[in-house]
Amino acid sequence: MHASPQAYEELVTRLKKTALLSSCSAVLGWDEQTYLPPAGTELRANQLALMAGMIHEQATNPEIGNLLQELEDKSEFGDDSFEQANIREARHEYDRATKLPRRLVEELSKVATLSHHAWVDARKKNQFQDFLPWLEQMIDLKREQASAIGYQGNQAYDALLDEYEPGTTSEMIEQAFVPLRNELVALVSAIKDSGITPDISILTRKYPVEKQREFSISAAEKIGFDFNAGRLDIAAHPFCSGFGPGDCRLTTRYDEHHFPGAFFGTLHEAGHGIYEQGLSQEHFGTPVGSFTSLGIHESQSRMWENLVGRSRAFWDHFFQPAQTLFPTALADVKQEEFYRAINDVRPSFIRVEADEVTYNLHIMLRFELEKALISGDLKPADLEAVWNEKFSEYFGLTPDSSANGCLQDVHWSAGLIGYFPTYALGNMYAAHFFNAAEKDLGDLSALIAKGEFTPLKEWLNQNIHSQGKLYRANRLVEVVTGETLSHEPLIDQLQNKYSELYNL
Ligand code: ZN
Repeated sequence: MHASPQAYEELVTRLKKTALLSSCSAVLGWDEQTYLPPAGTELRANQLALMAGMIHEQATNPEIGNLLQELEDKSEFGDDSFEQANIREARHEYDRATKLPRRLVEELSKVATLSHHAWVDARKKNQFQDFLPWLEQMIDLKREQASAIGYQGNQAYDALLDEYEPGTTSEMIEQAFVPLRNELVALVSAIKDSGITPDISILTRKYPVEKQREFSISAAEKIGFDFNAGRLDIAAHPFCSGFGPGDCRLTTRYDEHHFPGAFFGTLHEAGHGIYEQGLSQEHFGTPVGSFTSLGIHESQSRMWENLVGRSRAFWDHFFQPAQTLFPTALADVKQEEFYRAINDVRPSFIRVEADEVTYNLHIMLRFELEKALISGDLKPADLEAVWNEKFSEYFGLTPDSSANGCLQDVHWSAGLIGYFPTYALGNMYAAHFFNAAEKDLGDLSALIAKGEFTPLKEWLNQNIHSQGKLYRANRLVEVVTGETLSHEPLIDQLQNKYSELYNL
């Protein structure tokens, strides 16, 4: 017997309704970060909490469980079909949502808000001790969440990681991270020993904000972000929010005396935006109409920001327009000097300001520490000391303050544990995809130097964006590239690029 013909349609209708509600909540969230007047904060928190409750109620409606059961019992769709992927992923989301007691969901949400405020304060005062009680509470709650969700083996952390990178385990990540770390530490040290230090002061000359905005928008448009279906606004912590078909919001921030921040930040967010705009509109609201994982999302932003935006070819195309737009800053600068400045590598304390090479080391440090916090091997009270010790082991520097050390990132205060590794996974996925695109399209540098970005964008649309959650991240890499996830493509790219820049 087959499942009733309406069962699948009814499931899709329910998923789409929940997604529509989530997209309303995303509009409120975007507005909170961009235009909300300070006095509206409490009203907005109440609006968002109400929406979260409504979304949770819809997503855990027992009728979804019944429909899934019916569809699973009478499996009638092919293994690699969009329908089967929707059933598989809807089950995954439904199970995660229903395993969490409402009390825990509410407590996590409340503690995240309060803990976030405590973190902002503690960071300002540079006092890890002020944040510690909140961190302890958050870790307890996240451990409780992990055991409610369940996991295989003894890695509670995997239950948390699964929210951001479904199907990926800490063991899989370690297999790629351990060799990557060894290679990166060696590369950073060779760069340091080269004695070459590019002149980065040219990047902190005066770059008028209005011109930066104009230049960033023109580059984002050129690489393929559709401004008819999106916009760029200012936010303190830049992000991209895809509301749904036809509406994707990018944000950035400007500093008149720092060119790379807004420019590469906009390319990065536009990379996320191009992914969102490339999702299947027809399947909006179902898993195959949404992004694969945070790691795959990040692979798109990093590709446009780094593999394209920080390449020599990119500046063959864009340096002259930049010189015309910023004559005061760039009139006496040679393209090669500029290229070297935007690819300067040096260990520094702050992750979000790190270069392409040292960036992944920042992630590995956090991955190891948060895993130990969840397993109980590391007590929150010892976090700062262990952070500083490991930091000096990886970077040869010891953080000079809590704000420049373990208090620098928002994630742990907001309960985002298991999130960090997706940044480094994104870099590794990007390297795999870029190589595969080059195999199909020929010399990408030659296209980029001519300002021809459409072939790469369309290749990504076809192979990655339009597939949504048809495959899990690991499988997507295999299907698209014929390879399994490895540190090698990334390390090869970095070694090639930086050996030439630093005469290694
Ligand atoms: Zn990103």
